[in-house]
Amino acid sequence: MSKEIQLKYKGNKCAACGLSVSDMLARWGTFRRMTEFHHIDEKKKAKNYNALIQRKICTEQLNELDKCILLCSQCHKLIHAQNIKACLDLKLEYEGNIYTQKISGWIIMDLLEKRMSLFSDQRFLLNFYRISIGDEKAKVIVGIEMDSGEFFSNLFKGLREYNKFEIRDDKNTKVLMKATLLGSNEFELKQAVEFPFLEYELSNKDGAKLWVRNGKVLDESGRFIAQGTITSINEFAPIDAE
Ligand SMILES: [Zn+2]
Ligand SMILES: [Zn+2]
Repeated sequence: MSKEIQLKYKGNKCAACGLSVSDMLARWGTFRRMTEFHHIDEKKKAKNYNALIQRKICTEQLNELDKCILLCSQCHKLIHAQNIKACLDLKLEYEGNIYTQKISGWIIMDLLEKRMSLFSDQRFLLNFYRISIGDEKAKVIVGIEMDSGEFFSNLFKGLREYNKFEIRDDKNTKVLMKATLLGSNEFELKQAVEFPFLEYELSNKDGAKLWVRNGKVLDESGRFIAQGTITSINEFAPIDAE
């Protein structure tokens, strides 16, 4: 059970060749010994990795999986055999602004296709979204600008002033996040599961945990959701007395 959730959390297919766990099951009736987690930075691998990965799902385990990519056993052998590590300095220029991101990872080189592919534990953050605040016209925002807790905490704080905000995908086809002020102290938040920027974990009164992270929702009982919308009613954090 735990292994299946781990695989789903990592996309359920080999990051390099795309062979999926369901393909393995359909063809060979098993995925045992065919899926492996490759640490992008070996030095960050937990000392208790083997025990940790066998455990029931927990935050530490998910943190560990976030340092890895999922590979089939053949691609895992290949990535170590080629053993090419790279760090890319990406630069995006858009309407006079420059956005940068460093991505480090491993490369697989396909000599026949003349193609290099980079595999990283980092999310690519130089893609475009659209944000509209209050009644203002939507403007373009780059992923990297949203990649901090501070960004969202400021956005939520501002709700009392502008009543609502909305973030959509680049093509303007889907609402990824929408917050609406309900009263002086409450706001409603709708978040598309696949929107990966705002992550949190919840525990119910029995202490059972649920995680919203990396564009997925998962819980201790094995539930796993990769699409849909989470709606919540939230209170503003109390304002600190001066
Ligand atoms: Zn593969
Ligand atoms: Zn490896």
